[in-house]
Amino acid sequence: MAVGSVEGVRAAAGIVPDRKKTLVQLEEVIKVYRESDVETIALRGLDLSIEEGDSVAIMGRSGSGKSTLLNLISGSDRPTAGRVLVDGTDVGRADEVARAQLRGKVMGIIFQSQNLLPFLTLEENVVLTGRLAGTELDGSWARELLDRVGLADRGSHRPDQLSGGEQQRGGLACVLAAKPRLLLADEMTGELDSATAAKLLDLVREVRRTEGMTVIMVTHDEQVAQTADRIVELRDGRVVADRRVR
Ligand code: ADP
Repeated sequence: MAVGSVEGVRAAAGIVPDRKKTLVQLEEVIKVYRESDVETIALRGLDLSIEEGDSVAIMGRSGSGKSTLLNLISGSDRPTAGRVLVDGTDVGRADEVARAQLRGKVMGIIFQSQNLLPFLTLEENVVLTGRLAGTELDGSWARELLDRVGLADRGSHRPDQLSGGEQQRGGLACVLAAKPRLLLADEMTGELDSATAAKLLDLVREVRRTEGMTVIMVTHDEQVAQTADRIVELRDGRVVADRRVR
């Protein structure tokens, strides 16, 4: 570090810079869906900046653009105009290889239906996902994760021996096993009873605390939203409210 720089002086004085890194940035994002003659404007010039380590709940009525926003951040769709930056990469313009790398290295994505490998047991699915992501994961932590999502006694079952809700929770255990820097979740507690939902949110909070994970979750549930640090509300493809709750 350069002697005499502001950072150098701050570091020498033991002052930690208070500016956090921006992990996700959307600039003037417009998304128009075209189907034959019909055009739907899903996002109308959306600006949003999310810092590393933050937890953000995205709320808004059905059709307000929440899923579109997640799809653009995850790189499964591209904006019509504007920029979507994740960890400095312009995901809207990056090629398929770069997007796949970003999804593999940075993101963990929980959508309503989860893909578990059908020929492996649930525990093997969790261990494999963790190892593929390069995390040091042994069977005992895999079992701990399964316990935390309420599936302690299902580790030796294959996905077709599990209910839809159990597969969803198993999918969450897999995603967390990979210790993603950015967790994207669409209604992750949607189909769960309130006790299981609370356990699951606790687990997400713990992984956030220990790993510094950033969370962006779409939810209809005000109580779930209150577990986030920040609540962003969309209406007609725009941010209409953005408040910090802690
Ligand atoms: P939300 O997740 O808040 O319910 P969406 O992002 O799914 O909102 O949808 C925003 C708008 O875009 C809605 O009017 C919806 O009908 C439309 N839309 C979403 N996906 C598509 C698609 N693949 N093709 C055409 N229109 C779409």
